[in-house]
Amino acid sequence: MGEELEKLKQRLPLLDYLRQQNWTSRPVGHGPEFVGLCSLHPETRPSFHVNARKNLFYCHGCGEGGDLIRLVQLSRRLSFGQTLTYLQQHSAAADSTSVLEETAAFYQRQLQLCSEARCYLQQRGVHDPALIQDLRIGYAPGARLRRHLLAQGYSLELLQRTGLVNAQARDAFYRRIVFPCSQVGGVVNLYGRSLGDTFPHRFLPGGKGDLFAWESVRQFPTVILVEGLFDLAVLWQAGFRNTTCALGSRLTPTPFRQLSDRLTRRVYLVFDQDENQTGQGAAQQLARRLEEVGVKAHVVALPSGHDPNSYFLAGATAADFAACLQGAPPR
Ligand SMILES: [Zn+2]
Repeated sequence: MGEELEKLKQRLPLLDYLRQQNWTSRPVGHGPEFVGLCSLHPETRPSFHVNARKNLFYCHGCGEGGDLIRLVQLSRRLSFGQTLTYLQQHSAAADSTSVLEETAAFYQRQLQLCSEARCYLQQRGVHDPALIQDLRIGYAPGARLRRHLLAQGYSLELLQRTGLVNAQARDAFYRRIVFPCSQVGGVVNLYGRSLGDTFPHRFLPGGKGDLFAWESVRQFPTVILVEGLFDLAVLWQAGFRNTTCALGSRLTPTPFRQLSDRLTRRVYLVFDQDENQTGQGAAQQLARRLEEVGVKAHVVALPSGHDPNSYFLAGATAADFAACLQGAPPR
């Protein structure tokens, strides 16, 4: 038990934990000591001290002090056992966010090194360097990520738990364009589009999180919802920054809640115009659900056989697309 505790406290230093909770502090002198406001009692002048070397806190205002376990017990009013469970979960989540962030950055650098991958993006109509940077689009060459992450100190166990590396300890993403899926707090999943045609779409195991880029899109009174990230990329490039993506045509409860959290919002559903009508069927059904909760929804019809990505590739302009939106009747 004692050993487990020490490991947990090493893995999640007190100062890191506090900063993850948005605690702001300033250094005291040049040593390992920091001071900020205390979360355990109301105060306006900072009296909460953390010694990063000793991994301990002490508050001169309320007199509380101790280690990470003590702080969490007090601030969250948890028992000792509950605190351990909470911190283990917290630390596992923080580890996976950290390794996914590192992976996204690594894949972004790989894109710069691979002309074939950059060519593929061009062919899919994604060419604006600022957009590629904004969306943090990268490239997974395969057979390089594992070595890089191990060298950065991440454990093989973590790489396998997040699904970045498979059971045979090989990189899971191989020759794929990669879009990181982020929400407040960091990257939660990666979408990989194969350069070839076998298994074109892949995600890491685990949830896909929020609607894509929801933090920036939610502010718009009118929102465009598309099925895929290449659709989103060409629309952002054409100036439709109010586009978000469901990562498929079926919405799980969290994205649905987000889309309908403001009743004044107007939602345009631009799904694939495929022959068997699955995209259109899903769009109609979703529009009905949105209407039921009071959100205005329009199902947009693109010319037959097109999704937004192929429509722009076929030469459509922003004005053409805007005309499609305007032509979509409310349900
Ligand atoms: Zn205090």
